[in-house]
Amino acid sequence: MTARRPGVGPVDRTSGARAHAPAEPAPAGRAAVAAVVAFGANLGDRYATLTAAAREIAALDGVHGIRMSTPVESVAITLSGPDPTKPGYVNAVAVVTTTLGADELLAALQGIENAHGRVREERWGDRTLDLDVIAYGGAVSDDPLLTLPHPRAHERDFVLGPWLELDPDAAVPGRGRADELLAALRAAQDARGAGEGAP
Ligand code: ADP
Ligand code: MG
Repeated sequence: MTARRPGVGPVDRTSGARAHAPAEPAPAGRAAVAAVVAFGANLGDRYATLTAAAREIAALDGVHGIRMSTPVESVAITLSGPDPTKPGYVNAVAVVTTTLGADELLAALQGIENAHGRVREERWGDRTLDLDVIAYGGAVSDDPLLTLPHPRAHERDFVLGPWLELDPDAAVPGRGRADELLAALRAAQDARGAGEGAP
C-alpha cells in the first residue's frame, strides 16, 4: 500500500505553530482541499470547547472555510469497549477547506488540542479535546503518524452521522459511502440488540 504523505510542510510539531523559516515551503498556489475533522470531548465544558476549537481552526493560516455539524453525544469507548461509567462524549465533525498539507493540518490540530489542556496519558483515555483528521480529500496513507482516512472512521456512528449532515454524499476513501456504512453499522447494532433480548 502506498504511504502517500500529502503536503509535508512548515510546521513545528511540538507547538503546532508555523515555523518562521520553513525548510520545505508549501507549494505556492496549492489547491484547496476539503478535509474532514472529527471533534471529541468528554472532560470540562465539552460544548464550549468544541465551539472554541472550531473558531480556532477557522482562524488558522491556510484554512479558508469551515462547516461544523450539530454536536452529538456518545458513550466513551475505551480499549475494552464502550464504558457508560466514564464521562460521556460530545462529538462533532467539520468540513474544512484548506491549503495546508495534511501533516500541517494535523500539527495545527494538535496545537489546538494542547492549548485546551489535552493530556496524553492512556490510549483512548478521557480528554478535554480530541481532533482527528478523518479524511483529507481522497488521500490514502498507512503512515501511523497520519493514517488516511482515519482507520476507525467507517465504524463510528458519531463520525458518520454528523459528516452526513454536512455532506449527504460523503464517502470514506477506500471504504464506501458514509450513508451505506452508517446503515450497516446500525443494522449490526440492531441485530446485537435483538440478540440480547432473545431468550
Ligand atoms: P486517539 O485519537 O487515537 O485516541 P491521539 O489523539 O492521542 O489518540 O492520537 C494518537 C496519534 O495518532 C497521534 O499522535 C497521531 O500522530 C496519530 N494519528 C494517526 N492517524 C491520525 C489521524 N487520521 N488523525 C489524528 N491523529 C492520527
Ligand atoms: Mg486523536
